[in-house]
Amino acid sequence: EMFGQLTSGLESAWTKLKGEEVLTKENIVEPMRDIRRALLEADVSLPVVRRFVQAVSDQAVGTGLIRGVKPDEQLVKIVHDELVKLMGGEVSELVFSKSGPTVILLAGLQGVGKTTVCAKLANYLKKQGKSSMLIAGDVYRPAAIDQLVILGEQVGVPVYTAGTEVKPSDIARQGLEEAKKKKIDVVIMDTAGRLQIDKAMMDELKEVKKVLKPTEVLLVVDAMTGQEAAALVTTFNVEIGITGAILTKLDGDSRGGAALSVKEVSGKPIKLVGRGERMEDLEPFYPDRMAGRILGMGDVLTFVEKAQEVMRQEDAEDLQKKIMSAKFDFNDFLKQTRAVARMGSMTRVIGMIPGMGKVTPAQVREAEKSLKIMEAMIEAMTPEEREKPELLAESPERRKRIAQASGKTEQQVSQLVAQLFQMRVRMKNLMGVMEGGSMPTLSN
Ligand code: GDP
Repeated sequence: EMFGQLTSGLESAWTKLKGEEVLTKENIVEPMRDIRRALLEADVSLPVVRRFVQAVSDQAVGTGLIRGVKPDEQLVKIVHDELVKLMGGEVSELVFSKSGPTVILLAGLQGVGKTTVCAKLANYLKKQGKSSMLIAGDVYRPAAIDQLVILGEQVGVPVYTAGTEVKPSDIARQGLEEAKKKKIDVVIMDTAGRLQIDKAMMDELKEVKKVLKPTEVLLVVDAMTGQEAAALVTTFNVEIGITGAILTKLDGDSRGGAALSVKEVSGKPIKLVGRGERMEDLEPFYPDRMAGRILGMGDVLTFVEKAQEVMRQEDAEDLQKKIMSAKFDFNDFLKQTRAVARMGSMTRVIGMIPGMGKVTPAQVREAEKSLKIMEAMIEAMTPEEREKPELLAESPERRKRIAQASGKTEQQVSQLVAQLFQMRVRMKNLMGVMEGGSMPTLSN
């Protein structure tokens, strides 16, 4: 289980809020301590942890509870959103050159998986219909060149080699020339890795970079090294200027520190992640999916998001006022039924709403079907009729016209009108659902 320890560490934070009614400064102290500990144990750097915990606390006590959402669920959502932000928010796509070949320069310390990444990346681009060529630039280890040739063969891409006697910057120049001749889409240059950062390595990289004018300069870092990976990305960025990082060995028992720290510490995004030794094991880094995986609570997250959406759809208090003053009209009816339909369409989530455990998927489908019928009839009404349901109650002609326009029977229209008046009562039940009542039955 990836980041298993972090996941269970965070879990203890939610557990402490079980049974609470609200989020307060006092009752989040313990959970926040758990979150802090979990992140530190995951090897996230201290300043990052501090900022994170502060941001989460501020939101936890600063925002009201979403109706129908429990404090522990809301905290899960806040932590999720902050984790996404921490990891850079959006996925950071590879950039491709508009003219000539795209050049990707790969750097990294020895053993991080750089050579493997070269071939994985070529394989990944091939699946996107892009041709690529690898350039073997690790002139200090003949074995590294051999390995690249073997991997290149394995994924079916050419590898440019010039032995170990040629300077890396010259190899780069020749390789790029060759790729242009062959009209290759993407050139991927492997460079020498050292056991640790040294000046010779940086100088060589700078020189290669000058020759290649790469579209992307990506530092390959090992997830197992935690916050050290983030520090490396910073150093390489300051020294040679990079565009992002590739995080390898996420499949191992890494603790999460690297994934969570790289962007925040270095300002550079993780663009791709390696999740295994096979050539297929390379994928874009999606901060939201990663956060979801870390929390391991996809269901709760979906539920809170949907609840937020429903509440945005209609300001509940405004609606309640309308119901109380009997001004609830067909416009409100439509808005609300649509919101309910959206809630209802997530059968899996329905069971998680307090008090709605007994609603079966069949009932939900039935409710959705009747909502569709109602929508069609309401859409056939004039604006005036929507605002004044009384007009329809008084006029069989109007009801007949709506029946014809919507393809329903006059009886169905009459039922709908009657239902609106009942709905003024029913809406009170709906408000109850959001707070733990039972699902209103909608019939046609
Ligand atoms: P380099 O020295 O940076 O070129 O590293 P290599 O590409 O030779 O990889 C070093 C070792 O790490 C090899 O045994 C790879 O199979 C392994 N490796 C590379 N990427 C991953 C990964 O994402 N997951 C796992 N589990 N192993 C990896």
